[in-house]
This record gives sequence, C-alpha cells and structure tokens, in this order.
Amino acid sequence: SAASAAVDTIAAVSTPPGRGGIGIVRLSGPESTTIAEQLVRLRGPLEHARARFAEVLDPTADEDDTQSRIDEAVVTFFAAPNSYTAEDLVEIASHGSPVVLDLLLRQALTLGARLAEPGEFTQRAFIAGKIDLTQAEAVRDLIDAQTLAQARLAASQMGGALSARVMPSKHALLELIALLEAGIDFAEDDVSVAPEREIQRRIGAIRPPLTELEATFTHGRVLHDGLTLAIVGRPNAGKSSVFNALVERDRAIVTAIPGTTRDTVSERIALGGIPLELVDTAGLREAVDEAERLGIVRSRQALADAAIVLVVIDASEIGPAGHLHEEDRTILNSLEGRSALIAWNKCDLLDPDTEDTLAAGIESSEPALLAHVDLPVIPTSAVTGQGIAELREAILKLATGGAAAEPGMLTSLRHHRAVTQAIEGLDAASAAATNNIPHEMVLLDLYRALWALDSLTGQTTPDDVLNLIFSTFCIGK
Ligand code: GDP
Ligand code: ZN
Repeated sequence: SAASAAVDTIAAVSTPPGRGGIGIVRLSGPESTTIAEQLVRLRGPLEHARARFAEVLDPTADEDDTQSRIDEAVVTFFAAPNSYTAEDLVEIASHGSPVVLDLLLRQALTLGARLAEPGEFTQRAFIAGKIDLTQAEAVRDLIDAQTLAQARLAASQMGGALSARVMPSKHALLELIALLEAGIDFAEDDVSVAPEREIQRRIGAIRPPLTELEATFTHGRVLHDGLTLAIVGRPNAGKSSVFNALVERDRAIVTAIPGTTRDTVSERIALGGIPLELVDTAGLREAVDEAERLGIVRSRQALADAAIVLVVIDASEIGPAGHLHEEDRTILNSLEGRSALIAWNKCDLLDPDTEDTLAAGIESSEPALLAHVDLPVIPTSAVTGQGIAELREAILKLATGGAAAEPGMLTSLRHHRAVTQAIEGLDAASAAATNNIPHEMVLLDLYRALWALDSLTGQTTPDDVLNLIFSTFCIGK
C-alpha cells in the first residue's frame, strides 16, 4: 500500500486534465530536487519557499540547440518538513499545455519518480502527522465543494475544527481510564465515595458534548452530500411552476394542458448552501397514453428516491367543504414516515377570506389525514411568488432538522459511526459500573469509546480503510 512505503519520490500533474493557463507538476520525496534539477534548466539554485524561473527543454533536441526550449516554468521548492507533505516538495508550473505537462511527468518517472496514487500527497501529510484524518478529508471536501457554505465547512474542518471538538471528551475519557487503571480510590470532599458514583459522574460529563456532536450529522450530512427533492402532485396543480419559482428561471415547460411534463426534469440549486437537486415530475394520475405512463413510472421512482417530497396541491380546486381530491389523498397517504411538505398552491385564485376558510376547512374535514401525515403546509402562488420564500425556508428546515450550520459538524458516515461507537462504549461502561461489574470490564468499554474517538482523527484507523479514504481523492492532491 501507499501508506507503507513513504520513502520514494512521487510525481503527478496537480492541475485538472486538459488545457489551462497554468499547469503544475508536483514532486514529493527525497529525490524531488534532484529530479527537478534534471527536468528543467533552472536559472538559480532551489531555495525553500522561493520561486525560480526555469526552461523546459525538449529532450529529443541537441544540447546546444536553441530551439530545444519548449516552455518556460516557475519552480517552487519547499524543504522538508515545511511543505504540504512534510517531505521535500517541488512544484513546476508551466503553461498549461497537456503535451508539456505529460512530457514533464514522463521524464520525472524516467528519472526515478513514481506516479502518485490519488490523494497520496495528502496521505503523506497525514502519515507525517502534519494533519489528522478529518483534516485530510477536508482537503478533498474543499476541492469538491459546490457551494460556498460547503467550502466554509471544509475549510473549518481543514483547520481542525472537528478534531478540536472531540479533544476535550477524549482527554476526560483518558483521565477516567487512567484513574481506573491506577485503581485509585475516589474521594470527594475528603470523604471516600463509591467509585461507581464517580465513574457515572465522569461518564455523565463526557457524554453530552458527544451527543451534541452526533446531532450535527443531520445538517452536516446534507451540507456535505446535498439532497434530492421531488415535486409531486396532480396534473396542473402547478408543480412545474413551483419548480421554476424555486429554480428562479424557466427550466421546465409550463403549460395549461394537464399531463404535459411527461418526463422528470431536474435542476440543481443551492439552498442555504446545501446543494439541492430539484426533480419536477409528471403528474401522478391514471395515464391516458404510453408516453405519459412512462413519465409516471419515472415520477414514482423519483418520488421513491427523494430525500424530501414536495406535494403541490391546487388550493383553488378544493371545494368549499375543504375536501381533498382523491388523488391528493392517495399521494399524502403514501408519504407516511417520509420527509415531506405541502405547497398549498394557486392561493392567488382564492379571496383572502376563503384562504382562511379553506385552511380551516382542510383541517376540520380531514383531521384524520392531517394527523396522519402531519406535514408543514405552505400557502404559495407560483404566479405572484407569494410564499415561495417561506417554502424555501420550510424545505431548508426539513433538510437540516432546523439546526444551524456550525464549525466542526459531522459530515460523513465515517465520522458519525465513530461518534456513535464512542457513545455506545460510554453507555456500556456506565451500565457495567451500575451492575458492579469489575473495573476491568468497565475499562474495556471505555477503551472501546477511546478507540472510536481516535478513529475519527485517524489514529486507530486501519491501513486498508485509510487507503480507501485517500483513493477518493483526485490524483495530484
Ligand atoms: P403541473 O402540471 O403541476 O406541472 O402544473 P403547471 O406548473 O404546468 O401549471 C399548470 C397551470 O396552472 C399553468 O397554466 C400555470 O400557469 C398555472 N399555475 C401554476 N401555479 C399557479 C398559481 O400559483 N396561481 C395561478 N393562478 N396559476 C398557476
Ligand atoms: Zn408540470
């Protein structure tokens, strides 16, 4: 594995594939400078954190051939341990021609470098202890960020925000473990107390910050991964219009003839910094032809796949008694246990009094249904824009669980598993202490919790898992 052999010199093109204004070949390892000096003709000796002009030469040309220069480059050297990887590191920035970059890379390999694996530069920084695993992951997340909020979150994690949050719990846990290991009698106000009580007190202090951290996963996960929202409802309810109002431009086709949006249309927006994939579906109803039938099949799939379902109901169609259409009822009934909300659309067609009457009507005539689905209902008009801001708010609230973004949130299943395992370890230790099980057994559970916290920062993460994590990086990072 890449982790076990960190003594060779690696090379990669660190800029994205294709043409660019600048392209960078990066070298890291003990032979970096030696290789760089042979790769290009430097106009001065390499010095730490200094940029040097250099010429890229055509290796097939004669030594004194004036035509042999094929590019100019700026070469920057960072001496170990003050580099990204903590090793000697050289960056050769040429004009971003893929031909020149390929030539530089192939020559570097000929001169003894090895092609870097994905994320290997960052992995070396991790192995050298310059950064922990959450920080390494944040480098990848920052590169992958699609919204500014994602970049902000990644940057705070890169700065160690997540590790810093776990640190106090870890220290308190270590203290408890040390006390139990030493078999020291606990004392409180000069009175010897039952060790069990002290164990419980300490576990009781360690646990809350961890459960708070665990709770950040709801928001952290969607901020990291984004989510999909499917817009469903009867034909002509205004799904495409609401979709467009949310997308803020005319992407989906809006028409007055029912059943026109026959296929699903999707668009990516950023809502509160969360990448949100909006899917406009065909109307869910009995199809009149084959094309519509296929559209409905896809709509049902989109509905099944979505994290959040937005049901658009034509409020102007609801009778004075406030009876929902049969098809709306079917849709709402199918959403039990799902994260969903209702756009009570076409409110502009209601006079203000009826709007209230209808809202009251739907509650009084469908109490069982509403108690059953218990969904937020947002009065909207896709035509006037009324309620669209409130709709966004409501979607955001569903997506985040109502929690604000904060530094050091859990953003991946790996993080979440580590924290839940730590909490499980603490709970098991607490239960063992309650039942007067010997301290050796209590210690085992506490060590399990400690191991879990350490896995978050990568200290106890097995090599194969590490390799898996770094393999999700791009080459050259
Ligand atoms: P879909 O079949 O559910 O996608 O419905 P569309 O978005 O295509 O809209 C069907 C018709 O209702 C179109 O004529 C829209 O202009 C109209 N419509 C949609 N939303 C509203 C609204 O809030 N108020 C009014 N007055 N008309 C709307
Ligand atoms: Zn439509």
